[in-house]
Amino acid sequence: MSKARITEVFHSIQGEGKYTGYEQVFVRFFECNMHCVWCDTPHSIGDTTRHYKEYGLEELMAEIQGLWPGCDSVSLTGGEPLMQVDFIQMLLPLLKQEKMAIYLETNGVLNHRLETIIDNVDIVAMDFKLPSSTGCRPYWEEHESFLKVARRKDVFIKAVVSKETFRDDVVYAAQLIASIDPNILFILQPNYYDKDSGVLALCAEYQDICRPYLTDVRIMRQMHKEWKIR
Ligand code: SF4
Repeated sequence: MSKARITEVFHSIQGEGKYTGYEQVFVRFFECNMHCVWCDTPHSIGDTTRHYKEYGLEELMAEIQGLWPGCDSVSLTGGEPLMQVDFIQMLLPLLKQEKMAIYLETNGVLNHRLETIIDNVDIVAMDFKLPSSTGCRPYWEEHESFLKVARRKDVFIKAVVSKETFRDDVVYAAQLIASIDPNILFILQPNYYDKDSGVLALCAEYQDICRPYLTDVRIMRQMHKEWKIR
């Protein structure tokens, strides 16, 4: 693939996960292989518009370089960036040449595609998609295979907790992570749209039930929504 379909390229502050507060260049890839009920980038999965721009490598590199000063890393996000892994395979060596750290934000199911780029990725921000949260089918086997590849790098896991999220899903996720490495950071992310429905208290309850399995379980909000930035 010589061109990538990209929704937007911009500079901002990372608003979720372990690296909240770092300045990044964000490259938002178009399209996703899932359809979570609370997707916060419906434009990137084609729900509201199929608007994207096709970028060649040279043009994208020039745009990233223009936005780079002061940034810590380049965030490949979406949608699901691994849907366009052929392009990313060509992009990453160019970013590495420029000594830019690479942060991959992913829904954590396309493990064979991750395998082809993992050597050039520095940080993997991986989602665990809890079926009772997303309204999608379970992806436990895919998440397990994906995490086994991702853990070669700096990986942490996020799971959105909504008011619909079942305790059993959270326990299963914690046990699965623990079976691979109990020291991997697990972040419970309260669904922004449920913030007035007691979801924070639910997260606190779920944090307690994860503690017997994992050493580092945190509740972290999506700060970019609080800050009203992208
Ligand atoms: S995986 Fe992410 S981008 Fe894809 S539908 Fe779910 S929330 Fe949206």
